[in-house]
Amino acid sequence: MIQESELYRKIAEACRLDTAEAYRLQSRIHRLQWFGRTDIWVKRDDELGFGVSGTKLRKHASIIPSLKQQGIEEVVVIGGAHSNNVLSAAQTLTENNIRMIPFLLGPPPRKQGNAKVLSLFVDDREIHWVSRSQWADCEVLANNYAEKRRTEGRKIFVLPEGAHHRLALPGSLSLLVDILRNERESGIRFDHIFIDAGTGMVAQSLLAGAVALERKTIFHVVVLAGSFDEFQTGLSKVMQYTREFFDVSLEQVPDYCMYYPATAKSFGSTNKTVFKEIQRIAREDGIITDPVYSAKMFLTARLTILDKKLEGNILLIHSGGGLALTGFMDQPVFSV
Ligand SMILES: *Cc1c(COP(=O)(O)O)cnc(C)c1O
Repeated sequence: MIQESELYRKIAEACRLDTAEAYRLQSRIHRLQWFGRTDIWVKRDDELGFGVSGTKLRKHASIIPSLKQQGIEEVVVIGGAHSNNVLSAAQTLTENNIRMIPFLLGPPPRKQGNAKVLSLFVDDREIHWVSRSQWADCEVLANNYAEKRRTEGRKIFVLPEGAHHRLALPGSLSLLVDILRNERESGIRFDHIFIDAGTGMVAQSLLAGAVALERKTIFHVVVLAGSFDEFQTGLSKVMQYTREFFDVSLEQVPDYCMYYPATAKSFGSTNKTVFKEIQRIAREDGIITDPVYSAKMFLTARLTILDKKLEGNILLIHSGGGLALTGFMDQPVFSV
């Protein structure tokens, strides 16, 4: 077991929290008026940033200082054309004078939403499009490219899809530390925590951190990309990163349930139920959500709370991503 102060110290060091340029990794919580209850809360990680959304800011908060320290000049960034991580990297890398080389899943899509915003940052000619049939080997292609650049004397780094990388661990762990701060400030202890997962980096770090602190909470993970198996494989990796980061042996297993989204199950897919939910959340909760992550997470959480008759204090993590909604505003549901 490790102490919270030790956890905080290691995160602060990796994210250079004592410097003026550090990302602010604190977000507030507030109540949701669901089911006439007063014990369901949302954590507004979406408020961490406008362009660099939510949990991406946490991941980049530890990746960027490390890249700068290593003197990295170029980063190959892997992902979809609409990826929040690619769009976030375009900002955090450019700010730090590091060149982004995007390896994106092709073919090039119609330019709207995130893909359109991305074109503010990168010229079309700089994008390496990788076809769906080659996508499984994208990391190999990216590494080959990086190797070639290295022989040309460039300092280059390959960032895996969704920044699922050991360098993202300290920043990802900051979510747990910040929840503990929210608990102290509100005098509330959360019995259930809902979080969404893409690559799972942030959710897995939350689970690993809870094990390290021996914190007893039931985690509910809405798996939006990939399978439960893939989430568990990622979790084993992140548990290992965590052991190495703190030099501890973590024997316990985290207490968590996994869910596929209640609707539009394949990653990135949307339907009328999702858009209706976005409108409901806006009108009843006053919150902007995106159709790929947060809206599906909120919907799945609502149904699960009812289904399982969950009691006690419940926290939903709003992981951000609202900018992606701009690509979907012409949905007919939104015009009523
Ligand atoms: C990327 C992203 C996630 C998933 O983060 P992972 O660490 O890849 O699981 C969840 N929500 C939003 C809004 C995101 O942009």
